[in-house]
Amino acid sequence: MKKPILAITIPCYNEELCIENTVNSLFEVLDDLIKKDKIDLSSFIYLVDDGSTDKTWEIISKLHNKHARVRGLKFIRNYGNQKAHIAGLLGVRKLCCDCVVSIDADLQQDQWAIEKFIDKFMQGYDIVSGIRNSRDTDTFWKKTTAICFYKTMNLLGVKIPMNHSDFRLVSKKALDILAQYPEKEIFLRGFFNEVGLKSSIVNFDVKPREQGESKFNYMTLFALALNGITSFSIMPLRIIAAVGFLMALFAVGLGLEVIYEKVILDSTPNGWATLVILLAFFGGLQLFCMGIIGEYVGQVFKEVKARPRYIIETELI
Ligand code: UDP
Ligand code: MG
Repeated sequence: MKKPILAITIPCYNEELCIENTVNSLFEVLDDLIKKDKIDLSSFIYLVDDGSTDKTWEIISKLHNKHARVRGLKFIRNYGNQKAHIAGLLGVRKLCCDCVVSIDADLQQDQWAIEKFIDKFMQGYDIVSGIRNSRDTDTFWKKTTAICFYKTMNLLGVKIPMNHSDFRLVSKKALDILAQYPEKEIFLRGFFNEVGLKSSIVNFDVKPREQGESKFNYMTLFALALNGITSFSIMPLRIIAAVGFLMALFAVGLGLEVIYEKVILDSTPNGWATLVILLAFFGGLQLFCMGIIGEYVGQVFKEVKARPRYIIETELI
């Protein structure tokens, strides 16, 4: 089998402090793999500037002018990390590569694990997901909420591997399938899991971020989690229907009970507290259920407008 052309894609949002070091470190990885005869000489790095407001794009352009194997594109504004990942994947697909690895600009993921990804690819795997050995670099809250998210996803039938971020290798075949998906809001971890290609995992160690700060806050992480759930599972809607049915049964029972007390026992119950509690409980439950349905309606709303996924300002290839 011929040596594969490897593309490495990196989403970058205000990463002026790390980007140059990251590219240099990835050059070392590429050179090492070329020396070991594992990848083709024309392998390259593809940086996606997700509408940065600092000098990120200037640095990317400078690197591109200096090194032919640095390519990239710039979004017109910030679209968020998932869109940047998608643009990277679809961008390198056009440039002809055999496989692509996505990695973060802060290089928190161990870039030397890329060799193991390539080995798996050569064994015939189309999707290789990087799994963190631990979450020690995360705060307690991030760790807890992440665990809850993965557990919920698995319960809802979306079997994404625990502790997998977007550090993964995918083959050209997987990219061709991705390109056929018209939906705008793709949650990549869910997508590559359900696509049905041969997949494997590689374990790696997470390093603390050295420069700059995390671009995610709890709101953006919550939005990502909701997006992940609502774009891959309709289980919450089914749960709502089931809960609604049980509540209706309960209401029938309660009604019979009240009629019995009124007609047979002729006791006028002073159930004020019960009433208030039930009212508040059902009011809350209804609002919560409407919120979940609203999330799905929101997804439909976003998709039905069929707006472009993102707008590219410039591309350097
Ligand atoms: N990122 C992006 N757009 C955003 C937010 C983040 O492209 O709106 C990129 C960021 O530059 C980095 C990756 O996504 O390459 C992961 O972000 P970060 O390291 O801040 O997240 P954390 O590791 O804290 O989860
Ligand atoms: Mg990071």
